[in-house]
Amino acid sequence: MIQILFRNVRPLVIGNIGLILLQVVLVWQGIWLIYPDQASLSTPVLTSSTEIPELFLPDLRTLPLSDLDIISLRNGDRVLRLTNTIWNSGDGPLELKAVHNPATQTMIVEQRIYGRDELQLSQPVGEFIWHEEHNHWHFKEFSIYELWTLSPIGGLDRLVSTSGKVSYCVIDSDIVDRAVDGFIPFGRYRGCGKTLQGLSVGWGDKYEYFLEGQSVSLAGVKDGFYVLKSTVNPDSLLLEANYDNNSTLYYLHVHGHNIESIDLEKYFERRCHTGDWWTMRGIICGY
Ligand SMILES: [Zn+2]
Repeated sequence: MIQILFRNVRPLVIGNIGLILLQVVLVWQGIWLIYPDQASLSTPVLTSSTEIPELFLPDLRTLPLSDLDIISLRNGDRVLRLTNTIWNSGDGPLELKAVHNPATQTMIVEQRIYGRDELQLSQPVGEFIWHEEHNHWHFKEFSIYELWTLSPIGGLDRLVSTSGKVSYCVIDSDIVDRAVDGFIPFGRYRGCGKTLQGLSVGWGDKYEYFLEGQSVSLAGVKDGFYVLKSTVNPDSLLLEANYDNNSTLYYLHVHGHNIESIDLEKYFERRCHTGDWWTMRGIICGY
C-alpha cells in the first residue's frame, strides 16, 4: 500500500483582518509563490509500507594493471599496451541478457538483478555488438583506459590520452577470490554469445595486452611521469553496490620505449633527498 502525504504549509502569522484579506488576494493572484515553503506544496512525499526485496548486487572492480609495454607503429607513433582484469566482488552476479530489436537490428541488453531466490529487477543498460577483430560479441562501453600527467603532489593532473570506451565479452575467465560469499567454482557465464554474458561472484574477466583494443596511444605524448587509470562501468550504466572502487591507478615513468613502474612513496622520498623543487618542498617532504 502506498500513501501520499504532503508537506505542511508554514502557518501564516497574521495580525488583523486586513492582512488576511491581503494574503487571500495575493494567493488568488498567484503571488503566493513568494513564500518559499509554499512552493513545496505540490511536492509529494512518498512513504511505503511495501517490503523492499533484498537485492544481490554485483560490485565491479579493476585489478592492478599488468604487462605494460610500449610498441611502435609503422608511422613511428608509440602505443602503450596493457592487460586489464575486471572482477565482481559483490553479493550477486553481473548478468547481461539481450533480446533482438528488429526495428533497429540491435541486441538490446538488460541487466538482471536477483534476490535470494528469484529475479527481482531487469533494466536496460546498453547493447551487445559484433566485434570483428575478436570474432565474438561484446558488451559496449564496459571500461576505459586513460593516461594522465602526474601532478607535483601525486595526483591526476591532465588527461593526455584515452582508449575511448572499450567493449568487452563479459565472461568468467579467471578466478579472483574464492573466499567471497556467493562464489561458485565453475562460474556461470562461459561464452561470448549475443544473448547472455556476465560475471559470477569472485570471478574476473581478463583482457590481455596483445588483444586489439588493449592500448592507449602515445602519439604526441612526451617522455615523463604519468598515471594510467583503468575504470570499469565508466558511465555507471550498470547497477552495482559500490561505484567508488571501479578504478585502478598505475604510476609510471615513460622513457622512449621503456616503462618504469613508480612506487609513489619511494619516489617522493628520493626526490625530497635530492632536493628536487618539483616535489613542492614543504608539502610532500614535510619541511
Ligand atoms: Zn573480445
